[in-house]
Amino acid sequence: MTYVVTDNCIRCKFMDCVEVCPVDCFYEGENMLVINPSECIDCGVCEPECPAEAILPDTESGLESWIELNAKYSAEWPNITVKGEAPADADEMKGVENKLEKFFSPEPGKG
Ligand code: SF4
Ligand code: SF4
Repeated sequence: MTYVVTDNCIRCKFMDCVEVCPVDCFYEGENMLVINPSECIDCGVCEPECPAEAILPDTESGLESWIELNAKYSAEWPNITVKGEAPADADEMKGVENKLEKFFSPEPGKG
């Protein structure tokens, strides 16, 4: 089992999650973060820290494509352990639907 970052993170990226992860398993893309499923120890402390409610346990149904996306990009993007600056429009982007289709970027973040 692992925790998974989902759609709501895209263009929100508040990054409160990275500060609490005991095993530093968050990875940074240009406009979202992902969790490395083979490093996550399933402690769950990041889930309530996310203001966008983007982090979910993989036991929830319908997350298959997000589990794959987290696994794929955590292998390509740089590790991130310190909270950076959220995008200026992060609050406005909270709760916008279908962000994967509209805004996802496969480019890496700065880490
Ligand atoms: S706190 Fe939530 S929205 Fe922010 S970067 Fe982490 S997973 Fe994404
Ligand atoms: S569940 Fe724990 S180990 Fe996994 S990403 Fe969240 S804080 Fe890190």
